[in-house]
Amino acid sequence: MGVEKTQEARVQAKLPELQHRNFRNDEFWRDIPGWSAVTRDEFADHRWQTKNSIRKIDQAKKILGKLLTEEVYQDMVEGQKITPMNIRITPYIFALIDWDNAADDPLRKQFLPLGSQFLEDHPFYLEDSLGEDDDSPVPMIIHRYPDKVLFLPTSICPVYCSYCTRSRLIGGSTESVEKETYGANQKNWEAAFDYLMKMPLIEDVVISGGDAYMLTPAQIEFIGESLLKIPHIRRVRFATKGIAIFPQKVLTDDAWLGALKKVHRLAISYGKQVVVHTHFSCPREITKWSQMAMDRLFQMGIIVRNQAVLQAGVNDKVEDMVLLTRALSYLNVQPYYVYQHDMVPGCEHFRTTLREAVELEKAVRGTTAGFNTPTFVCDLPGGGGKRHVASYEYYDEENGISVWRAPYVKPNEYFLYFDPIHKLSAEAQERWRDKEQHQVMIDAAVEKSGVKAKLNG
Ligand SMILES: *Cc1c(COP(=O)(O)O)cnc(C)c1O
Ligand code: SF4
Repeated sequence: MGVEKTQEARVQAKLPELQHRNFRNDEFWRDIPGWSAVTRDEFADHRWQTKNSIRKIDQAKKILGKLLTEEVYQDMVEGQKITPMNIRITPYIFALIDWDNAADDPLRKQFLPLGSQFLEDHPFYLEDSLGEDDDSPVPMIIHRYPDKVLFLPTSICPVYCSYCTRSRLIGGSTESVEKETYGANQKNWEAAFDYLMKMPLIEDVVISGGDAYMLTPAQIEFIGESLLKIPHIRRVRFATKGIAIFPQKVLTDDAWLGALKKVHRLAISYGKQVVVHTHFSCPREITKWSQMAMDRLFQMGIIVRNQAVLQAGVNDKVEDMVLLTRALSYLNVQPYYVYQHDMVPGCEHFRTTLREAVELEKAVRGTTAGFNTPTFVCDLPGGGGKRHVASYEYYDEENGISVWRAPYVKPNEYFLYFDPIHKLSAEAQERWRDKEQHQVMIDAAVEKSGVKAKLNG
């Protein structure tokens, strides 16, 4: 008895450490006035989720009724004038937003930007910050590393993230950006497969976009089979934010899941891998629905890994990142990467300093199994590829300039990442206001890094 009590007390004392197992299972969507009568079965139906996705601010206003204050409404209208992304939000995510606290809500922040929260872009922002267009030998293929490529067969997603790194391509045009690309352009796929066929070094294809959730079952099968038939291709990853923001599809779209299952089985018969990469950002997205969806995928033998983007007010607190990591691990999702935010337009309010990323990495490591501990990476502006956040050559924290090398990917170049200016000291912010100081600060950081002597050629 005494021993049992001690154990009980020990478990009690550790309760915060068990928080990651408490998956929300209430009918939370019924708190949204427009959905108060929606049953659990309706909410579970992927067609209902798609049909009722929020695509306009007015629609949000109608569904929310008095839950939406006039102030937040007007602020969202202003946000639409600035953001490079269209709106699309699944009812699942929309209903998980805490509308009483809309301004601070991490889910609202990702999908429904407020005009008042945008900051001026950093002077070194680029629409194609990662230099993907330079590494694209044929449309829809990005070939930067020797043995792996990105294949981008579609430009649409089940939700639109206001911080998308490919905002120049993804979704429809907005008030601030014209886009030529839209939808799944099957015409160009053959050219992509031909390219892959001719490149015997390529073993690994990431099917991204856009989002693999938006491919039809026939397209999933066609792409999967076409890639797996290429002898040197060993690993195929389907990338989708879907599991995080629309778990109902995994549970009720049997045709889509059936196609994935078929491609997965085919891969196994060839001795190859088909896995899914997803994108949970913060613990608030994880509910019993996520667990049920993951159980279904896990029982099919499908490995799922997670890639999150580090964002202020979404997942930049140690306790949130630890909780996210543990909850994902518990669901059998392997936390794979946490990305330093890309330097693309309309994201300055989301970005953290590199120092914050390094400190988070330190705090998270040790909290759970090593194989469930994400690697924190910075995908270097200009196409140096992904690097561990602490592997910079030099970091001028005062001016927020880090200097990097990518010895294998681009041995003759060095790369720069810049911290968000609003997080720097008042003096540094003053220097950034003076255009003539930009190159002076950069030259000093590059000089101190000694990077030029280390480049080949
Ligand atoms: C991220 C990325 C990959 C995949 O990289 P992993 O580190 O293997 O996940 C492949 N190609 C490009 C261009 C990428 O940006
Ligand atoms: S799901 Fe991915 S590709 Fe689509 S908008 Fe979000 S970040 Fe961009």
